[in-house]
Amino acid sequence: MALIVHKYGGTSMGSTERIRNVAKRVAKWARAGHQMVVVPSAMSGETNRLLGLAKELAPAKTDTAYDRELDMLAATGEQASSALLAIALQSEGMQSVSYAGWQVPIKTNSAFTKARIESIDDVRVRQDLAAGRVVIVTGFQGVDPEGNITTLGRGGSDTSAVAVAAAMKADECLIYTDVDGVYTTDPRVEPEARRLKTVSFEEMLEMASLGSKVLQIRSVEFAGKYKVPMRVLSSFTPWDIDIHEEAKSGTLITFEEDEKMEQAVVSGIAFNRDEAKISVVGVPDKPGIAYQILGAVADANIEVDMIIQNISKDGKTDFSFTVHRNDFARTMDLLNEKVMPALGATQVTGDAKICKVSIVGIGMRSHVGIASKMFRSLSEEGINIQMISTSEIKTSVVIDEKYMELAVRALHKAFDLDQA
Ligand code: ASP
Ligand code: MG
Repeated sequence: MALIVHKYGGTSMGSTERIRNVAKRVAKWARAGHQMVVVPSAMSGETNRLLGLAKELAPAKTDTAYDRELDMLAATGEQASSALLAIALQSEGMQSVSYAGWQVPIKTNSAFTKARIESIDDVRVRQDLAAGRVVIVTGFQGVDPEGNITTLGRGGSDTSAVAVAAAMKADECLIYTDVDGVYTTDPRVEPEARRLKTVSFEEMLEMASLGSKVLQIRSVEFAGKYKVPMRVLSSFTPWDIDIHEEAKSGTLITFEEDEKMEQAVVSGIAFNRDEAKISVVGVPDKPGIAYQILGAVADANIEVDMIIQNISKDGKTDFSFTVHRNDFARTMDLLNEKVMPALGATQVTGDAKICKVSIVGIGMRSHVGIASKMFRSLSEEGINIQMISTSEIKTSVVIDEKYMELAVRALHKAFDLDQA
């Protein structure tokens, strides 16, 4: 008998019929002798609907009082889906009880709309499990030290599930979703993309932060920190498929490199169009410049991703970096109005029509020439590289967004990712 956490995404919970399917699947696992904790998302579209209502009444703003209400509001989506799932399980003849995050409680800090989990008290959940109940815990939410309801950021139910699994030392956390696992790249861009049977936790972390939308990045960080065995699999298989077959399906996120069966050097291609590039041109090459530029950006709470500084010519240099596209206009204003005059820079230029394409693989640690193979393949397609950044297990390039799909497909082929 194992303690298993299931997480179901919004599409898996999207209608009463689908909720019934989830209930039948969970009942199958419980009847096989497992203790079951289930963490559902809100029914698909519900979080957007609720947040949309708020925006109709007052546009989004940076205001703690407003954000508090957004969390109060958005958290109801998961409260509804959780109760519905408990009802569906009861109608399958199972004993089941649902709890909102604050009832467990899942304790978080007070950063409304992007709270972080601090601790989980599992006493109540354990008592229910011991009494033979299937326990449903709402995804996406917790409670802050003042008793306010908080949410964990969009896609946060993944993190709730992994955090519950970590706190309870669950044997496995199964993330059921509308795709059947983690792919070498997005199959909508490259139809030849393959499902990975395993992916290392570090690769998954890179892929999540580089634009793969399968898992919320914080859930992967949690899984890594607490070594939670985690699997991504489909909720659209028939609920009554053989449980052993189901338990082996999807993609397993592994922690040991030698557990990795598929020894490809590059495991996946990630991409995202969420960034914009900014260059401060002609800044004096002297101590303190990076701090003057990026310090001002950080003080405005704007996150910076890639950073490049050129070597100087005639005592002047160019300084480029990327920010989230949503922060592009704000960053440009800030640089033009405050930073540039103070620095005596020549000009500030920006481009939001870029994308970042990355190759990821732990094999890159022990192989040379991987980045150059990437650059060759892009050059063969006539794609100009604007920025490059590397880490031990990834290389990312910034290119014109209109070449994104071409670049992804070329790299997918160059690294033989279409070959099993
Ligand atoms: N319902 C929330 C969202 O749509 C959390 C989640 O689904 O993971 O972002
Ligand atoms: Mg999700």
